[in-house]
Amino acid sequence: MGTANSYNDLRQHIGHKLECVCYGEKKKDPHNVAIECVTCGEVLLDFDHPEVTAVNEKNGFFPVTCVTREDIATALKDRKLHGKIKKLTDEEMREIAKRMGEYFCESGHYWDFLRAFVPDMLKGV
Ligand SMILES: [Zn+2]
Repeated sequence: MGTANSYNDLRQHIGHKLECVCYGEKKKDPHNVAIECVTCGEVLLDFDHPEVTAVNEKNGFFPVTCVTREDIATALKDRKLHGKIKKLTDEEMREIAKRMGEYFCESGHYWDFLRAFVPDMLKGV
């Protein structure tokens, strides 16, 4: 979603170097475009290609979760690593998220959760 959602959010970046960048495969429509503050290394505003979400959901794929640098810092309590975690690139974060997704699906917790949670939800349907 990006971090700039208000006057005060954006105000912090006055005079900074901003760039409009895109993510995706080369020679294809980018799946995401973003305005980033190069000075802070922050995504201020970004949009997914409207078809990406629509196609995923049409095919029956709904995103499970997202992971943040803060999550990683919380998980790895070693303070010495926190500086390095902050410097993880968006590319590296995507790789971590992808591996987490794969791991989660392979581990039993995925199915345990569905078995434990969904039947209660279905009662109300
Ligand atoms: Zn900035």
